[in-house]
Amino acid sequence: MLRRRSQKPETPRLRFTPAAWAKLLWLRDRGETEIGGFGISANADLLLVEDFVLVAQQTTAVTVAFDDRAVADFFDQQIDAGRRPEQCGRIWLHTHPGHDPTPSAVDEETFQRVFGRCDWAVMGSVARHGASYARLQWQIGPRGQQQLRLGVDYAGEFSASDHAAWEAEYDRCVWPMTDAWAGLEFGEEIETGRSSLASEAELTGIASLRRRQVRPRDLAGAAEPAIRTQMTDPQSRKGENHPHGTL
Ligand SMILES: [Zn+2]
Repeated sequence: MLRRRSQKPETPRLRFTPAAWAKLLWLRDRGETEIGGFGISANADLLLVEDFVLVAQQTTAVTVAFDDRAVADFFDQQIDAGRRPEQCGRIWLHTHPGHDPTPSAVDEETFQRVFGRCDWAVMGSVARHGASYARLQWQIGPRGQQQLRLGVDYAGEFSASDHAAWEAEYDRCVWPMTDAWAGLEFGEEIETGRSSLASEAELTGIASLRRRQVRPRDLAGAAEPAIRTQMTDPQSRKGENHPHGTL
């Protein structure tokens, strides 16, 4: 009987190097809001995450909104660094500040809208209190999906923690809406933030930009935030690298 039981196919795993996992959890716990980014896969093992990278984003306790230009820049940088599109644009990871890692309706909508045409993609989330969720979706042959277990893989070489670099990445990329709200006067003229992302130099002035990122009306319905996950499908951008890249 035991033998028969052991023949049951094992749930596939999305594995993380210890350094990548530590970075994801450290960033999850750094602030009060969700944060999101991309898992960077090992060249020879696309379900082994070697790094977790943030892109510029507005965040609340229940949403993450990536900046379109920052997403495009992220893919450019990854391709320039020699990675293939499927190494850097297939694993979408984010955190939930509460107990429940289950994807929200917005998460599901975003996953289908942004990654629905990829040959394969993973949506993963890690809740603050430790629970996690991941699902692989593919369109090679018949369309399908499979829930994944998350795990840490200690087998290979891995780098050490780097809290200073992680802190810098968090400060550069994550704009909690709560910060913006704190200093915002109703009726204040608000500039759109997108063009403010033009250069690294401008990004260093991010604290002053945060206030301009938010329109008061976006904060009016706190129970149902107006800002939703807003990754633009990079495939719709002409002439730019994108996560659905054809080889
Ligand atoms: Zn979510």
